[in-house]
Amino acid sequence: HLNHSLAELNGNINVSFEFFPAKNENMETMLWDSIHRLAPLKPKFVSVTYGANSGERDRTHSIVKRIRNETGLIAAPHLTGIDATPDELREIARDYWDNGIRNIVALRGDIPAGYTKPPFYALDLVKLLKEVADFDISVAAYPEVHPEAKSAQADLIYLKQKVEAGANRAITQFFFDVDSYLRFRDRCVAVGIEVEIVPGILPVTNFKQLQKMATLTNVKIPGWMNKMYEGLDNDQTTRNLVAASIAMDMVKILSKEGVKDFHFYTLNRSELTYAICHTLGVRPVS
Ligand code: FAD
Repeated sequence: HLNHSLAELNGNINVSFEFFPAKNENMETMLWDSIHRLAPLKPKFVSVTYGANSGERDRTHSIVKRIRNETGLIAAPHLTGIDATPDELREIARDYWDNGIRNIVALRGDIPAGYTKPPFYALDLVKLLKEVADFDISVAAYPEVHPEAKSAQADLIYLKQKVEAGANRAITQFFFDVDSYLRFRDRCVAVGIEVEIVPGILPVTNFKQLQKMATLTNVKIPGWMNKMYEGLDNDQTTRNLVAASIAMDMVKILSKEGVKDFHFYTLNRSELTYAICHTLGVRPVS
């Protein structure tokens, strides 16, 4: 039934791909190979992360520029507000706009240890960006609640404020419990959030690393996943196949539930994301 309904959806699916700045020459090659492999799928946009407090904003910017030049795709830099003053942020925003960048993923960033500045939220960045120019803005959302949130309801209301301030869509933190995403989407609708809540899909090829990250991010790893990756610590090939299979199941259920926009955390790799997009009916456009 799932495959049948997917066939009917062909052509209606929008995808976006997230990349991060490479840290060495090998990773640089992998990044550009992946961008060129995925570009013909004509994503709605691609985005490039920015490591708050690591001074890599220039790298994010130059990758975004190069993606536009080499592929013609819409490329959105991630921008975090926590590590810059409002004046600096306005200057960056103006510079992006003057360079033809119209799409930004606006985030707070993680709070550095020993941080003493006044509180800053992604909402402040959305407002600031909209004051500078009419950017297309994506913001972050957390189906399983942001780890610092006072409550799930408070987290949801702050998301609503970001949307009311002008965010065009929300991209979720990755998740593996599809029901938690679907419930979250319902709750967004119930409080009057009218933009797409785009599920962030992470194909998990490194389960050990995920286990470490899960606590920090407040993302639940369902018991069945432990079982799926059992005994595969030294078997990358099988892990990749398992990762693709899990993500394919997720996107099939989500698209059957009416989801039309998917964001992929590619980790700068193309094979799995390409295959998962293929199962969604997304084909290269020449
Ligand atoms: P906010 O929306 O500001 O929320 C942060 C916390 O504050 C939440 O707990 C919220 O409930 C609470 N809050 C919000 N408003 C208020 C208020 N007015 N009063 C009190 N509490 C409030 N990090 C990077 O450094 N670089 C990246 O490139 C990057 N990309 C990301 C992409 C996606 C799709 C996602 C989901 C996350 C990304 N992150 C990135 C991580 C992000 O920076 C962290 O999760 C950060 O801790 C929160 O950012 P936010 O934009 O969600 O913040």
